[in-house]
Amino acid sequence: MAVPKKRMSNSKTAMRRAQWDKMPAPTLSTCKNCGEALRPHRICGNCGHYAGKEIIAGLQPDAAASSES
Ligand SMILES: [Zn+2]
Repeated sequence: MAVPKKRMSNSKTAMRRAQWDKMPAPTLSTCKNCGEALRPHRICGNCGHYAGKEIIAGLQPDAAASSES
């Protein structure tokens, strides 16, 4: 396993972390079945649908979870 040769200074750590807020927000699309926000090309975690088809059977869309986020 690769191991860092030297401990990174507090200054270097702070310089790296100063760039975090410049990162763009992840791209989100909406589920065509339940409207939940999700990453593209992923099965919906709320209702289990992908590309208009039910992939995970028996997963009921939770109305409370979709309205929260
Ligand atoms: Zn869905």
